[in-house]
Amino acid sequence: MPTKSTFSTHRTHIAGVPVPELARRFGTPSYIYDAAKIVERVNDLKQFEVVRYAQKACSNIAILDLVRRHGVLVDAVSAGEIRRALAAGYPLHPAKHGDPHPIVYTADIFDRESLSLVVEQDIHCNCGSPDMIDQLGEAAPGREITLRINPGFGHGHSQKTNTGGEQSKHGIWHEQLADALRRADHRGLAVTGLHLHIGSGTDLEHLSQVCGAMERLAREVGRSLTTISAGGGLPVPYRAEQNYVDIDVYYKLWDASRKRLEDAFGHRLTLELEPGRYLVAESGYLVAEIRAVKKMGGNTFYVVDAGFNNLARPILYGAYHPMSICPADGSSAADRPTHDVVIGGPLCESGDIFTQEEGGFVATRKLPAAGVGDYLVIEVAGAYGAVMASNYNSKPLAAEVLIADGNAEPIRARQTFEDLIRGERIP
Ligand SMILES: *Cc1c(COP(=O)(O)O)cnc(C)c1O
Repeated sequence: MPTKSTFSTHRTHIAGVPVPELARRFGTPSYIYDAAKIVERVNDLKQFEVVRYAQKACSNIAILDLVRRHGVLVDAVSAGEIRRALAAGYPLHPAKHGDPHPIVYTADIFDRESLSLVVEQDIHCNCGSPDMIDQLGEAAPGREITLRINPGFGHGHSQKTNTGGEQSKHGIWHEQLADALRRADHRGLAVTGLHLHIGSGTDLEHLSQVCGAMERLAREVGRSLTTISAGGGLPVPYRAEQNYVDIDVYYKLWDASRKRLEDAFGHRLTLELEPGRYLVAESGYLVAEIRAVKKMGGNTFYVVDAGFNNLARPILYGAYHPMSICPADGSSAADRPTHDVVIGGPLCESGDIFTQEEGGFVATRKLPAAGVGDYLVIEVAGAYGAVMASNYNSKPLAAEVLIADGNAEPIRARQTFEDLIRGERIP
């Protein structure tokens, strides 16, 4: 696996296909995914015996099908995500008794729909609140469950992606584990799994703190455990100077914890990893067309046809995405002079800026000179991109395209106006 990332501000192709050809065939804005990149990331993690994709990062059924064919299992956080997993060919139950569950439902609540679905279909549940234990136990006593514990600390690339500590709503508070175990006992549920996930886009140092917490908590649960899950949170580089985490070091830390617990329990434990971002972020490109170039005092704006309705990470977290320019004729922008520009979208909302920092401060980006008709490619956009899209300003959801072996296939049609108003009526 690579150690350092590199990004360029000029680009002519995505996964071997010319950008203007993609724009002509599928329109703009469109999400383009490079299948080979996803497979490469799956292979980085092959030391972990179970890789369970947190599909909320990018849940198109073609992406789910791709990771499924490469041996990856799946996590679902809603009834809709369970149905997506089934639509993508995941089986309800393991082929052999004792094999890991193909689909796990992880959440802090059961809404009424998800509770009936997991009960009817016998989906394994990772319970993130004491109430979930009670509700599942009442509806389906005798099941095996996993507990998601908030270890009392967390970390994330933004406060909004921190999923541990007192300010997080996620998981069962670590000091209430004994109470959770009593509730499970009382309802006839066997606790076979323990799960910790402290945040998204955290660094190795923070991720490894979780191992110690897992060992302590797992000993408290005891010998009923057969699976421990390290959660997700593996970061990817979004800027040129950022490094990849050392997966080998990370695996060894977890494997050592697992082995100590196996010795204590006298039986094997399955170690799961639950990445979302890591598998898909770098595969995704949001291709937009520059539709206006204007000066506002000292600032030059490139205004493109994609907005935060397509990619919300900048407005939500001040997230930084690498960007590149592809001239309309498909030539290279490498020889063009570069300028500091602001990239804005089409929405009637001043926060619709792709070059912003946390807190909404407008920043500039050094990009090759470009004009109307040239393409802006927003990169590393595969995770928490298309899935967070909205219809704000009555913009249709963008097309999604998967490129494998040089072939670009549509995996989601751009919404039509009829799609937009489906379900609305004038009484
Ligand atoms: C979001 C989430 C993940 C994936 O997080 P990434 O940072 O995308 O790896 C894993 N597990 C759970 C429970 C999650 O909610």
